[in-house]
Amino acid sequence: MTAQFDVAVIGLGAMGSAALAFLAARGVKAIGIDSYFPAHAMSSSHGDSRLIRLGYFEDPSYVPLLQRAYRNWRALEARLRADILTITGVLQIGSPQSKIVSGTRASCRLHGLAHEELDAAETARRFPAFQLDDDEVAIFDPQGGYLRPEAAVMGYIKLAAESGATIHFGERVAAIDPDDAGVTIVSTSGRYHAKKVVIATGAWIAELVPLLKSHATPIRQVVAWYQPKDSFATEPQRMPCFLRDEGPDGSYFGFPAIGIDGVKVGRHAHFREPVDPNEPNPPVNDKDTALLDGFISRRLPAAAGRRVQATTCRYTMLPSEDFLLDLMPGQPNIVVASPCSGHGFKFTSVVGEILSDLALDGGTDLPIAAFSFEALDRFAPL
Ligand SMILES: Cc1cc2nc3c(=O)[nH]c(=O)nc-3n(C[C@H](O)[C@H](O)[C@H](O)COP(=O)(O)OP(=O)(O)OC[C@H]3O[C@@H](n4cnc5c(N)ncnc54)[C@H](O)[C@@H]3O)c2cc1C
Repeated sequence: MTAQFDVAVIGLGAMGSAALAFLAARGVKAIGIDSYFPAHAMSSSHGDSRLIRLGYFEDPSYVPLLQRAYRNWRALEARLRADILTITGVLQIGSPQSKIVSGTRASCRLHGLAHEELDAAETARRFPAFQLDDDEVAIFDPQGGYLRPEAAVMGYIKLAAESGATIHFGERVAAIDPDDAGVTIVSTSGRYHAKKVVIATGAWIAELVPLLKSHATPIRQVVAWYQPKDSFATEPQRMPCFLRDEGPDGSYFGFPAIGIDGVKVGRHAHFREPVDPNEPNPPVNDKDTALLDGFISRRLPAAAGRRVQATTCRYTMLPSEDFLLDLMPGQPNIVVASPCSGHGFKFTSVVGEILSDLALDGGTDLPIAAFSFEALDRFAPL
């Protein structure tokens, strides 16, 4: 007999694990299924650290969601009695007109968020790890910091299990067939029936949502860790997390020395190389390391010691570089979540809540109109 559930969550990475925890907490009979094990190396949710910041340069409309996300991260920590979110401040560096600086300034002013705008000399005095050009500035967001992705994913899975969710790892979902009463889920190990399904399969999203084939593009992302040359300057107390706008060369991000591997840096979207999500990540090569070595010696000389580690991850890019959080067009029992575009992790704690609202209530009070299928349609017809 086919096992029956109220809601099934496919994919237990960042978004799926959070959704399952929120759903199970609302008392429904839920199942979560993942092809692998949480925060695995082919997912987008591994690598020790993820930036979180409040003065969002991408668009001020993200700020209310971020405020809710901060609240939910602290609630997760309280439930788990664990540290997931650490505040170091985030420094956003570039020319005064650059996208990152001007966008952060606009977001902070619109929402009345605490921030400081520093010139190059003041930045060097307060944060000696960073090398700024004379005409550059930095906006310091005191509420920024970093999250622990593996601990967050494992934490949500633990809470989901404690609330009674069924959890299957090492099981790949091959098909989702809608019917009048919900959906039938066909996996490598069995069949299930659920009234609602949440599809949160990250880089694999287009396999179960073919509508997204020409919209969701998994790309390769590389990050590297360096032993500091000046460990005084790179301590988290003196070196905030950062974003740096390098104009036509793109933007870089990084973290102070928060673990034994030292300072971590990457370039947002790296070389924008598409990858097949079913193939192992292509290994790190000389071109990758040359890019990051060059950046760190130019812009973070205090951290430019030995490179001790470099690894590959995936972003799943949408054309808008926003997210998709919506019911599938014409299929009210199917919720689709593609919140990556390289900046989704910090929203995990609110996305879980949104996905559970969409599955159980058919809508949410949280502001997600910008993340609909209709909004995606403006880039290319679905
Ligand atoms: C290197 C790197 C740095 C980043 N930095 C930041 C940052 O600083 N701040 C920030 O906010 N965001 C950042 N991001 C983005 C953020 O990490 C992602 O938005 C987020 O991790 C995406 O989570 P997800 O749940 O969508 O995907 P994933 O965590 O990849 O989860 C998808 C899951 O679905 C499973 N799955 C797929 N297909 C199936 C199937 N058919 N059946 C069953 N299971 C399936 C997979 O096994 C996987 O576990 C970064 C991403 C990368 C890669």
